[in-house]
Amino acid sequence: DGPPKYSYKRVSIPTKPTNPVDIQKYLETSKAHCSFVVLGHVDAGKSTLMGRLLYDVGAVDNNHIRKLKKESERIGKGSFHFAWVMDQTQEERERGVTVSICPSDFETANTQFTIVDAPGHSDFVPNAIAGISLADIALLCVDCGTDAFESGFNLDGQTKEHTILARSMGVNRIVVAMNKMDTVEWYYGRFDQIKNELSTFFKDVGFKEDQIDWVPCSGLSGEGVYKIAYPENASWYKGPTLIEKLEYVAQHISNSYHNEVIGSPFLFSILEAIPTNKNEEAIISGRVESGSIQPGETITIYPSEQSAVVSKILVGNDAKSSHIVVKGDFATLRLRHAHVEDIETGDLAGAVDYDVPVMREFSTQLLTFKMDRPILPGTSFMLFRGICQQPARVSKLVSIIEKQDPSKVIKKKVRHLGSNQAAIVEIELTERKRYIPILKIKENKRLGRILLRKDGRTIAAGAVI
Ligand code: GDP
Repeated sequence: DGPPKYSYKRVSIPTKPTNPVDIQKYLETSKAHCSFVVLGHVDAGKSTLMGRLLYDVGAVDNNHIRKLKKESERIGKGSFHFAWVMDQTQEERERGVTVSICPSDFETANTQFTIVDAPGHSDFVPNAIAGISLADIALLCVDCGTDAFESGFNLDGQTKEHTILARSMGVNRIVVAMNKMDTVEWYYGRFDQIKNELSTFFKDVGFKEDQIDWVPCSGLSGEGVYKIAYPENASWYKGPTLIEKLEYVAQHISNSYHNEVIGSPFLFSILEAIPTNKNEEAIISGRVESGSIQPGETITIYPSEQSAVVSKILVGNDAKSSHIVVKGDFATLRLRHAHVEDIETGDLAGAVDYDVPVMREFSTQLLTFKMDRPILPGTSFMLFRGICQQPARVSKLVSIIEKQDPSKVIKKKVRHLGSNQAAIVEIELTERKRYIPILKIKENKRLGRILLRKDGRTIAAGAVI
């Protein structure tokens, strides 16, 4: 049984942009952009912080805040109104949990940001993984309050899990919001103690010191977020506010992405596909993973291998039309000659002259985590590759390798894999007739990564080889 046969025409010769953009010039003059996902423990103050942040940059208006404040007082949850900026439905408000939103944009004078996922949404790990897979930066929110840290709150549960997930998915930049500093009178000793403990943990996970930034703040009072200055107690801190720090990191990331745009193939992770009222027309939204795209150019969508012409590019919350999008950008593409019934979340679009293999079985290099039971041939799990999730199983344990040097084989005939081992493993999708686009880690540092989850736990992470 081979891949399912679609009867679509696949084009291999590129088409020219309708109004060609000088890419080099565009890169030199465009505003810095980056995306971030908000992670951290329940109650660390993620929603409040994001609400404050959006309010400070002028992304939510005063009337909206006033209304939320009134409503939160009505049901006796007065301090929650900032958190609600991120919320959606009445029902969720009454329950006091936050829900998901789509990627949403805001900007400051010199930077454009995309918040990939709403806080609260990420409490559900598969959602956190999807968010992380689309983000440049992990904004890790930590509760510096007295009880919070002592009870092992921060170094356990979600703070830890989210950090490991971010590392495994190739996010190499963390900004730590040392939040709720108002509850400890902005005491430096407190900041320093938590920073030290977390630093040790980050190092163990594999992050380097220069990949991590620390910003003391209070989402509730707004001090250290953007508009409200630090109080006198915090005079020991000489660094920038949270948003200024994010702007700085965004500049850095944008520069490195811009250096890679020319000469790299266009690749696009598809978050959503919707039909239009026209025949053979579709709208896809997602993230540019590599290269660039302009209206008039043709792309191929995998696994259905249908080629379609990009007729329009829309960006931002208000869907402004754009002449080009580049690596790291989120965009909505309007397509001609597209068959939306065969486009799914997690599909990949690419330049027509770049071949993306479509497979159901492939070799991986894995690192196992702490597991209750060993991995055996036949062990089933959920495979995560970017925003794509698929049931899969181990088809073959090839070899155990050295953690530090994957080229060194330690053992060849492998019957099972235990915790904390490195191995070459062949895996296979279990849904019949299911094929997904697969890139090797050599081809794309982010899309070539995978995670394996079983019974609500991440059991291994690795790369497609
Ligand atoms: P989330 O679960 O991480 O989204 O946390 P929330 O934003 O819902 O906040 C949890 C609780 O902490 C709420 O009662 C907030 O009012 C409170 N909180 C959030 N940020 C701060 C802060 O900076 N200082 C203080 N004192 N309380 C905060």
